[in-house]
Formats: sequence, structure tokens, C-alpha cells
Amino acid sequence: MLPFLLVDTNKCKDHIEKMHLKSKQSEVLFRPHFKTHQSADIASYFRKSGVTRIAVSSLSMAQYFMANGWTDILLSLIANPNDYQQINKISSEINFQILVDSVYTSKKLAAYIHTQTPVYIKIDCGYGRSGVPADQIEEIEGILNALQGSKLPFKGFLAHFGDTYQAKNQKDIMSIYEKSVNKLKKLKSAFITTYPNLILSIGDTPSCSLVDDFSDVDEIRPGNFVFYDVMQSQLQSCSPNDIAVALIAPVISKQASKNQLIIHGGAVHLSKEYLLNDQGEKIYGLVANYKNASWGKNIDGAYLSSLSQEHGIIQMPASEMEKYNEGDLLAILPVHSCLTANLATCYLSTEGSKLEKMP
Ligand code: PLP
Repeated sequence: MLPFLLVDTNKCKDHIEKMHLKSKQSEVLFRPHFKTHQSADIASYFRKSGVTRIAVSSLSMAQYFMANGWTDILLSLIANPNDYQQINKISSEINFQILVDSVYTSKKLAAYIHTQTPVYIKIDCGYGRSGVPADQIEEIEGILNALQGSKLPFKGFLAHFGDTYQAKNQKDIMSIYEKSVNKLKKLKSAFITTYPNLILSIGDTPSCSLVDDFSDVDEIRPGNFVFYDVMQSQLQSCSPNDIAVALIAPVISKQASKNQLIIHGGAVHLSKEYLLNDQGEKIYGLVANYKNASWGKNIDGAYLSSLSQEHGIIQMPASEMEKYNEGDLLAILPVHSCLTANLATCYLSTEGSKLEKMP
């Protein structure tokens, strides 16, 4: 049973309502990315809020949510042209959309996809991971030509401003957003005459959390905001109290001379993602007290300083050490909740129920 991931469902529901409300106020479509929670039960909170469109990061995730009644799904990872059979199958059952960023893939999919599957072209607005660079109009035209006459109607331009994760402060996040959205708007005006229904789709939690007015785009797809995490709190896209997921782990050894508590909770539970604090020390998670099936405020000065496969080392302020003993449970707030959640087989909720997760 231990360690386990505890989800604060009230916080999750608040985050969903808040983001959905912002999208409605800007009159943009809300297509939350479900790769963060990967849970049919958490998905039901979105459904209750009125969400009907989602994004996923694999074909198996699309199938999982399809089996749970979701009928408008975007595979927001660039499509692998060799997956055309599965794409055809999913498209024959639901409104399924995919993503391309090359002429090669577009041509191959155009030849093999025989069920209507709208396509977004992925644009790189400066992040530098995947996508056609926003100024490469010829490459975009090549893709559009490759899609002509196929079962792959062009739906719009999609970008992920992942460079917001390198921002130093909120002002940086806002300026990455502005700069990137301007690139997309330019593309929209260049192609809107030929494709009057084309849309702009964006979505990263840092900018979606800080921007209030999304009216320059047509669709937002944040994912991480459902849980948030220590990384988002360091970026100031949320407050530490917004974090909605924690690993509940038992203290199994007390190293009093080093002010350390050793927990059963390691890289297999949290992932090895870390952040650096102001002193340049690695932080693998923050620490809070676990009580009444929930957790309280972070313990000032306590942090997870090291992780091995099954163990974590918590560095505690000396003044706190005497409060803790072997067997006590602590809540570890993850650095990157998407990776931590991905490692869990299910969640427990603060309301006392088990939340199903994609196998
Ligand atoms: N869209 C795409 C294409 C992504 O790759 C991601 C995350 O990696 C998201 C949306 C969601 O972004 P975030 O995790 O910042 O919420």
C-alpha cells in the first residue's frame, strides 16, 4: 500500500473550474491535456465541468479515454506515419485529430488514412523541440499540398510554448507567450483566406495559468494545471498551496546526526526530476505533514535532497528533527507531477476513494 499518491480532489476540481472559466471568458475552446492524470475518474471531474474535447499523448491513451466515453480526442504528439492502421481505427469511431510537422509524414498518412482525420500542423515558436519553425512558410505550404485531396483536412496551427519552463519569472513567461502568439497570428493571417476555418491551438501550464485573455488564439490545451507541482510553484504559475498531488511515504530511518529522515519513496515513485534552489542544491520534492488523509503547509526548510531507486533522503531543519520518528508518514510534493503521476498505478483521493488510472 505504501507509498501511495494522494490527490486533493477539491484542489483539482477548483483548478479545472478556474481554467475552464478563463477559457469561456476568452471564448476559446478548452481541450485539456489528459497525459498528466491519465485517469478516467479525474477525467469525470472535467466532464462534470462541461469539457468535451481532450488531448492525449499516445494512441493507447486515446483508446483508454475513448473506452471511457470521450469522443473528441487530439493526439497531441506528432503522428508516427507507421501508425496509420490504429489511426484509421480510432477515427472510424470518434472525432480524432492528429498532428504533423513534415511533408514526409503528411504524404505517407495521406496515402494510407481512409477515415476523416483532421490535422493540425505543429509549429515551433521558439521552444526548439518539434514543429515547423514559424517562419518556414514553404515547408508549411509543402505540408498543406501533401494533405490536399486526402482524408486529412487541415484544422489549424498548434504550438506548445515549452520554453516557458525556462522562464525566470512571471514577466518572462508573459513575454514568451506574447512573442510566440504573435508568430502564430502572423501565420493565421497568411493562410486564413485559403483556410477560413483554421484555428490556433496553444497550451502550456505556465502561460495558461498566468494569461487571462486568450482571445488571440482559438483553443487552449494545458495539462499539468490539474495537479500543478513544485516546478510550477517555482515558476510562480501557481502557489505552493495549489499543488494537488503528494506522495505519502513512511519514514524508515532517522539519521539524527545529519538532520536527515530516510523515507521509503524513491525514483520509482517520484521520478528523478529535480530543481535547484537559491543555494544551487538539488531539490527532488518538498515536504509537508500528512494528517487526516490530507497534507498541510510545507515544512519550512525541509526538502528531498537525494533519491535512489526506493529511498529518498529528506534534509530537515535541526529544530524539526525531534518531531519525527520511524513509521511516521510524510507528504512529498513532487517536482514534476506529470512524471510522478505517470509512475503510479492508481491514486487515493482526499475524499477516501480509489481513483482509477490508465493501466
Ligand atoms: N500540448 C503539447 C503538445 C504538449 O507537449 C504538452 C506538454 O508537454 C501540453 C500541451 C501540456 O502542457 P503542460 O504540461 O505545460 O500543461
